[in-house]
Amino acid sequence: MRCIVTGAAGFIGSHLVDALLAEGHSVLGIDDLSTGRTKNLAAASANSAFQFLEKNIRDLSKGDLALESCDWFFHLAGRADLVPSIVNPEDYFQVNVEGTFRALQLARELGVKRFLYAASSTCYGIPDTYPTPESTPCKPEHPYALTKLMGEEMVMHWHRVYQLPAVSLRLFNVYGPRSRTTGAYGAVFGVFLRQKLAGVPFTVVGDGSQTRSFCYVDDLVEGIVRLLHSDCPDPVNIGNPDEITIGQFAEEIIKLTGTDQKVIYKDLPIDDPKQRQPDITKAKALLGWEPQIDRAEGLKRTYAYFKSLSSDELRQTDHANFDKYQIK
Ligand code: UDP
Repeated sequence: MRCIVTGAAGFIGSHLVDALLAEGHSVLGIDDLSTGRTKNLAAASANSAFQFLEKNIRDLSKGDLALESCDWFFHLAGRADLVPSIVNPEDYFQVNVEGTFRALQLARELGVKRFLYAASSTCYGIPDTYPTPESTPCKPEHPYALTKLMGEEMVMHWHRVYQLPAVSLRLFNVYGPRSRTTGAYGAVFGVFLRQKLAGVPFTVVGDGSQTRSFCYVDDLVEGIVRLLHSDCPDPVNIGNPDEITIGQFAEEIIKLTGTDQKVIYKDLPIDDPKQRQPDITKAKALLGWEPQIDRAEGLKRTYAYFKSLSSDELRQTDHANFDKYQIK
């Protein structure tokens, strides 16, 4: 199949590219490299079935692509993170909303057989129900969540109005090799492992009693592939319901690495939810999908990945913000 993956140089996008190439498909990866890294595509770039285009999705037109048609279109590009979206909503609107509009229009022009959109579990805001099923009302709490939800609404709309064979999956806290290790706004898995390797304290925010449920990236990619082959039109939760507090998670890393580590406590960021946990009944019933890799195994693999990086490579996993916001 001929595939397009937007956000190809990002953490999840690059794993999806690798999986598609391994299945013998050809892939055009698109990324503006604002947060994605070409290093994530090192293996893919050695494959003649892979091409890369550096471009922001909102500026993309069919003329930019050396393709007349495309079978599968995976739209993963977007601006992530909550707090910066409050500071700069315009950028989030342009990339997450207008960018998704462009992707949908392009997909129509290219006559795609399946369009898959990576939506966010932040659409639920602070839900009343845990684990949270897809039927929970959406109450986005900040511009990031709102723009991702607007993207999803458009995807559903294009499905209804233009019969675009599109589907949306709602992601819950994904981790694994290549995850970002940003300071203030980074996903906690990468942040703690980065801190471990830098020999600096873990920065637990609040009292560490908030819980999250972490899904290993290979499980997510398997969920994406199964969803692709289904004819499911409605949003589906993909995540791992196994829950842990952030404080206990820090303890788990200490146990795995066998060395002690100081923990410092920082203020809880705006709207940091006390809990996030997917109900995956629908994914199980519709796709026969459930996570296979438990946290102990996923943590081991992710730690091995970060440990294998040179200190230069490790620094490159940080955002530009790392020094500004991270440990002093
Ligand atoms: N967190 C933390 N220390 C950090 C980064 C994050 O304690 O250095 C917490 C964060 O406040 C949240 C949880 O870990 O409660 C998961 O954060 P992440 O950014 O990974 O994802 P979120 O679920 O908040 O989108």
